[in-house]
Amino acid sequence: MGAERDITIIGGGLAGALLAILLARRGWSVDVFERRGDPRVNGYAGGRSINLALAERGLHALRNAGADDAVLQQAVMMRGRYVHPLQGEPGLQRYGRDDSEVIWSINRGELNIVLLTIAESHGARLHFDHALERVDFIDRLATFRHHEQQVKRPFQALVGADGAGSTLRAEMAKVQPLGERTEWLDHGYKELEIPPAADGGFRIEPNALHIWPRGHYMCIALPNDERTFTVTLFMPHAGSYPSFEQVQNGDDAKALFQAQFPDTLPLIPALRHDYDANPVGSLATLYLDHWHMGSHAVLLGDAAHAMVPFHGQGMNCAFEDCVALAEHLERAPALGDAFAAFEAERKPNAEAIQKMALENYIEMRDKVDDAEFLLQRELELA
Ligand code: FAD
Repeated sequence: MGAERDITIIGGGLAGALLAILLARRGWSVDVFERRGDPRVNGYAGGRSINLALAERGLHALRNAGADDAVLQQAVMMRGRYVHPLQGEPGLQRYGRDDSEVIWSINRGELNIVLLTIAESHGARLHFDHALERVDFIDRLATFRHHEQQVKRPFQALVGADGAGSTLRAEMAKVQPLGERTEWLDHGYKELEIPPAADGGFRIEPNALHIWPRGHYMCIALPNDERTFTVTLFMPHAGSYPSFEQVQNGDDAKALFQAQFPDTLPLIPALRHDYDANPVGSLATLYLDHWHMGSHAVLLGDAAHAMVPFHGQGMNCAFEDCVALAEHLERAPALGDAFAAFEAERKPNAEAIQKMALENYIEMRDKVDDAEFLLQRELELA
């Protein structure tokens, strides 16, 4: 693609950092503009979901970028779902027949730092504390807020890896309607923590994704390599008990957990404090009719197709986007062709995963302790 091998990525989160590696390794000139400060200097200011489930789709993309070993060093293997029913014995449901079919729990901040460091080692230029504010698509000039100043940077083409609230998407929509619609889930989430045991080890089975299914709500817990678990309580914002509207504070949460998640109470000593201190997160699915605008700009990851987290596939899908875009950029005769081919390939995929993610919420909170459902699932797997 000759003189056009020059890309400006908006957002140095998970997808932005991975795409920077993939393109810089292929000799592209890559600039990444990230709203936050450098997490290696200031610590990671994540804001949501402390850890993530990394599945084969995402791992395949990391292998493609030569980043899998560095990432897996920080990850904890999860063999299956460890289901904790209200009555009866808890137990492990394996994802596959053996340890060749597992998923991994990875800390968002550590993952982001590993990817940014590798991207920089391949020559990508990282510009932290640069928040995209406006784009002039005619003169190909992007305006960023850098501390108290505005800085303008010329660009050849922009990639929007700036997440669900993408500023680039909003700027593109001012020029060309993207057909954007967001469907909010009437359930939200709150994060809590299981600290290490007194001897420094894990308090519960480390190599599993724990689920406490309770019908219209549930808790899950994913292990962290520092021997903690991040617990996420999912329940409706409002409506029949329990909901975030009714379980308003730490005392209410303690009563809920005593009645519905009694085995977790000794595991979460700071339940009251965490519940009061941590915000309720909202969840939504984002649909767009168009992901790109000629040769000027293209969106990927959450900026193009944010989804609810119940299939644990948002990041995995974003990573697949990165591999697909890098390959189309290598192959296509011009940037606009690469963006169009990327959108044609990935949009149906993302829409299918968005649908599965919504369906999986019902399965996780309501079906994983249902014997009949599990028998059916076993038969499907056999
Ligand atoms: P983001 O990770 O949101 O990164 C966007 C980046 O852009 C950020 O660094 C941000 O600071 C930056 N940015 C934003 N605006 C600007 C601007 N104006 N200028 C410059 N930079 C900007 N996915 C999984 O695969 N597995 C899971 O287990 C999983 N669990 C989840 C649990 C929860 C509770 C939630 C909410 C999500 C979960 N996800 C999971 C989804 C996953 O978090 C996202 O799909 C993933 O983070 C998308 O990556 P991204 O790089 O597209 O966006």
